[in-house]
Amino acid sequence: MGELCIKVGGVTLTEHRIHGESKEGIQWYLGPVVAWLLSQWKWLMHEEAYTWKTHSGESAAFTVEADLERYMASAYPSDRLVYKHIRAWWMRHALRSADPSALLPSIVIRRVEDTIEVSWLDKQPDFSPEGHELNLNPGVALFPVEEVAKPLWEFLQWATTSAQPVTRDDHTQIQSLRKRLEATQQTQSVELEAAYMADDICHEVMDKIRSSHWIPNGKALTDIPVVTQFDMPVLMFGGLNVDIGTSDVRKLFDVLVQQHRGTDDKELAELVSSPSIYEYLQPYTHGYELAYQIREALQIDTDVAFVDVEKHLERLGIAIQEIDLKTNSVRGVAIAGEDFLPTIVINTSHKFNNSARGRRFTLAHEFCHILFDRSRAKRLSHISGPWTSGRVEKRANAFAAMFLATPHALERALNSVSSRDRKVINKLAETFGIGTGALLEHLRNFDLISEDDFQAISGYRYH
Ligand SMILES: [Zn+2]
Repeated sequence: MGELCIKVGGVTLTEHRIHGESKEGIQWYLGPVVAWLLSQWKWLMHEEAYTWKTHSGESAAFTVEADLERYMASAYPSDRLVYKHIRAWWMRHALRSADPSALLPSIVIRRVEDTIEVSWLDKQPDFSPEGHELNLNPGVALFPVEEVAKPLWEFLQWATTSAQPVTRDDHTQIQSLRKRLEATQQTQSVELEAAYMADDICHEVMDKIRSSHWIPNGKALTDIPVVTQFDMPVLMFGGLNVDIGTSDVRKLFDVLVQQHRGTDDKELAELVSSPSIYEYLQPYTHGYELAYQIREALQIDTDVAFVDVEKHLERLGIAIQEIDLKTNSVRGVAIAGEDFLPTIVINTSHKFNNSARGRRFTLAHEFCHILFDRSRAKRLSHISGPWTSGRVEKRANAFAAMFLATPHALERALNSVSSRDRKVINKLAETFGIGTGALLEHLRNFDLISEDDFQAISGYRYH
């Protein structure tokens, strides 16, 4: 028995009321929590990707709960299988899976690139007794890996060394937990990293990469079994849960090797920052704001209609490479960071990139990743596709739209025409060098086009 109190960034997640009295910690058996933390350690600290298809841009706590609800009720056999995958992921990451009889808060811990995401919901435990209520608002926070790994590991050490056995059973249980702690401590970095790689192909490719001339640049703590910074190829391919073939991975790895040992240009380095993706802003508003900042820094007037994105990228020392990948789900790839020449890879087999306007949009989108989506270690290897975090992608799309077309310039162009029909919009899209669909959405966000016109031109109608 003990008291469990969990604080995350100053918020006490275990705070609750019981019969009108407020308490910070939960008094219950700690054994199951200790056992769960030990058995799921490598997943908690290193697994990011979901093992089923989901488009959620929300926190892991929200995503996994919402998807469990969605698939639980389904009678379709294929949905049952998806449910099993979600449930298994939940067991590896959700604190409540440690002990369903304890009144634990709904907390989910997972890796997100080189950080750890802790997220929680305000959902009360399933079997709350009368008069018991958790005091929580849903939330999410990203932390440097060691700031989560260290207190958790210290808790495990404290729990296994200070526990006082009373019965023979206690004695056996404590002995077994101590053994597990020792075994976990011995886990090799390669095995820990493997927890990040969702796909079997990744494992295969990483084996090949390890036997090549690549010098691993990952980092791990010495006293706690945790990788704080993934080896760059692991970071690049590991978080993906996608059908990407070995030959594509090979091609992208070659780019990584080729661009290794470069650096950011001084002017670029001054523009780079890592604004949180969980700002209290809609991702598109955030993307717009960031694009404004960058246009100003690059001294592009708000009235300019056609922005020469390639010229600006070139000036900032960002390389552009075209690659013909087998998969058509990857639109672009962004690579940057210490020791890397910042590079945008354009996948020529993606239909979006066949037109000059689509290609410009991809460049502007990846430019946003290079500027604002670097991990704490200031590295980036981001593959843009339908499976990547919704919020990050939405922000990059908004950035691209705003970088290519400001409302000032659009309004000015629209003032010179009397109607808003398909022809006018197509002409406008051509002037700004932006796709018609992207432009329409952009105009709607600024109320530069009425909802009726938007629906009439995009051919989309509500019935
Ligand atoms: Zn992207």
